[in-house]
Amino acid sequence: MSAGFDRVALIGLGLIASSMAHAMRWKGLAGEITGYARSAETRETAAEIGLVDRVCESAAEAVAGADLVVLAVPVGAMGAIAAEIAPHLKPGAIVTDVGSVKQAVVEAVAPHLPAGVQFIPGHPLAGTEHSGPRSGFATLFVNRWWLLTPLEGADPVAVERLSGFLAGMGANVDHMEVARHDLVLAVVSHTPHLIAYTMVGVADHLRRVTHEEVIKYSASGFRDFTRIAASDPTMWRDVFLTNREATLDILGRFTEELFMLQRAIRMGDGEMLFDYFTRTRAIRRGIIEAGQDTAEPNFGRGAPPPEAAE
Ligand code: NAP
Repeated sequence: MSAGFDRVALIGLGLIASSMAHAMRWKGLAGEITGYARSAETRETAAEIGLVDRVCESAAEAVAGADLVVLAVPVGAMGAIAAEIAPHLKPGAIVTDVGSVKQAVVEAVAPHLPAGVQFIPGHPLAGTEHSGPRSGFATLFVNRWWLLTPLEGADPVAVERLSGFLAGMGANVDHMEVARHDLVLAVVSHTPHLIAYTMVGVADHLRRVTHEEVIKYSASGFRDFTRIAASDPTMWRDVFLTNREATLDILGRFTEELFMLQRAIRMGDGEMLFDYFTRTRAIRRGIIEAGQDTAEPNFGRGAPPPEAAE
């Protein structure tokens, strides 16, 4: 268990924590896994499916004696959890989080943690639109990025140890500065989610006009928007409330581009549209070459049913 920890505490038992529990067991990365979630219902489900070795009745109980503590709750809940667990953390323990936003988590968590505990913020760039203790699977992190944003003065040994553990679950670990993380994620994840929410919202407004056609012909690109827009409302509310500056910056740029394309369409400027789409096509090729998606048609989902094909 060279890359593992004797005792790992998972606070929050949703998609990310349950995937970590499965991955740790698969790769033998933890001696004992304890877990805590807010509701009795989630704790009962976790106990019933044997998700962790010990489901605890409080976060304080879960972290007692843990060598690694993972905060896997929505971003808006991190500060209160940190305050609650702080007096119960083992000296020398590593505390990390998996929140989708980093600056707000650092501000909410770091002030509570005692000296001698290593706080190393993190974010796995992996997920699905599903939530809860039953939604996790062991391979979620395989070949996905896991960004760590170590703070100034972080112990390099602890950072190395955590990186080895995450790599043990199959992730590609990279380091990034906190503010940079939030800007990059606003581009690659947060704003695209907002656009998906908006597009599905527009379709919903038009429902009376289009009726069932929106669902029937949804494979024509719209289906991917609906999948993204089905993501957890609490998580995404917190992402936008806490990564406000970066998201507003990117949204401003997005709107400018949209107006430019709108104008090109109005003016019949085919050359402009063609050049624009040629550049964006090259970005997609870059993503495939970087191994972050498949080049297979329909994202490797197999042939769409004939009535759904475009
Ligand atoms: P999830 O499936 O909705 O699970 C959230 C868990 O947190 C649940 O077990 C929930 O307990 C618990 N929780 C919520 N508020 C709490 C509180 N105040 N105290 C204690 N536990 C609390 O969420 P997730 O997708 O695993 O997301 C967890 C974190 O990972 C978030 O910060 C998110 O930004 C980040 N993340 C998510 C994704 C993704 O695609 N989903 C990807 C990367 C990072 P109950 O069930 O009892 O409510």
